[in-house]
Amino acid sequence: MSRIVITGGVVLTADDDSPVLRDVDVVIEDDTIVSIAPGAETTGAEVIDASGSIVMPGLIDTHLHAWEYGWRGTVMRKNGPVDYMKLLFQTSAGYSPQDVHDSIVGAGLETIANGVTGVLDFMHGATGTAEHTDAAVEAYRVTGQRALLEIGALRANSASDEDFSQSRAARIADVARLRDATRDDGLIDVGTALITPRPGPLWEMFVADVTESREIGARMTFHANEVGEFREMERSGLLGSDIVPSHGNRASRHELKALAEHGVVLSVSPHTEINSGKSPGVFIRAVEQGVKVAISIDTPPSIMPLSEFAQLTQLWASVTTFDRLDAREGGRYELDFDLDPQSFTLEDAVQAATVNGAVALGYDNLGRIAPGQLADVIVVRPTDAIALRDPAAYVVRATPHASEVSEVIIGGTVRKRGGRLVAADSIDIPAMNARSQERVLAMIEDR
Ligand SMILES: [Zn+2]
Repeated sequence: MSRIVITGGVVLTADDDSPVLRDVDVVIEDDTIVSIAPGAETTGAEVIDASGSIVMPGLIDTHLHAWEYGWRGTVMRKNGPVDYMKLLFQTSAGYSPQDVHDSIVGAGLETIANGVTGVLDFMHGATGTAEHTDAAVEAYRVTGQRALLEIGALRANSASDEDFSQSRAARIADVARLRDATRDDGLIDVGTALITPRPGPLWEMFVADVTESREIGARMTFHANEVGEFREMERSGLLGSDIVPSHGNRASRHELKALAEHGVVLSVSPHTEINSGKSPGVFIRAVEQGVKVAISIDTPPSIMPLSEFAQLTQLWASVTTFDRLDAREGGRYELDFDLDPQSFTLEDAVQAATVNGAVALGYDNLGRIAPGQLADVIVVRPTDAIALRDPAAYVVRATPHASEVSEVIIGGTVRKRGGRLVAADSIDIPAMNARSQERVLAMIEDR
């Protein structure tokens, strides 16, 4: 049995009852948190001295296209020289299994460095052969990140309905194969990135995608960007807690209520919602209807660094902006917090990035620091000790840098220790990243 004792930290639990605990030690045995109490026995244990630090659940990213990591930095501008959609098809067709592997390892290590212990990976490209999807699974074995890898079917512009229908169905068979192959990988689950539901023949294919995924027990996700899609899903009996939609900006109040009733977790990507002007207001609207909301980084090529803390900071800014605008437009400024209670607290924000993300990944024993929870735990050593007075405010509003994330533990295994990625000892990370970047740049030039 392995035993880790994290001593002396300020514990941000993500628990409703006691969000912050002080002067306690967190004890981990194998992959589980077993106790949080003062004066833990440290004999025979690995001791992590967390004095002056925040101990909290690892962050969970519920919508990340990790396979795009090799092309990061290429689409930082909305109307820049490289078009995102074109590059999506180009790299999807051009990627080798090695490119898939290197990109996912690169994204995994960068997100782990930033405290992300779990990810819902929406792999919507480079899924053409079993070698490609095997390479994705292998990449998660290398990084040791907890992953729900969801495999998508990308429709080339030239594909007929019939061709696409066949590649869609073949992809479900691959998901079933991968689910069998990963049955003993405690940290890896495989599911389906559903096709985007649109009226016409695509709707029939979407229904088939959901039905066939449920037959093999696969969890699902999809890009929810269309008007009325949740209503159609509700009418067709498709809504369920095994589907995690992302964005959902166009959902009506009625549709959001239906998501809440069906236990659907909605993944919101603050950077994407704000910067593409899709409507960051979905966040508050969803919360108001009782939807559990989780957050996500989304697109590695346009976001650097891959920090979920940065997403939390953006989320908080957008929530408070909408709250304040509401109050101002009602003529109630300076704010009166009796008339204008906050829609969302700092503790709610912490939960969005932790326990709600865990639910999105299909766990009911992950995302909090409490006995019996799986041991995905991070230690944040703030550069300024003032942070310890209000750790929730710090992690949500101050965007802790990767250099402040000193320890990352996933399933009881230390993946970052003393500020250093454990995997960095065996992988030449800069060389690997340079290689995948070079390959992608060559694909761009080939066009
Ligand atoms: Zn996306």
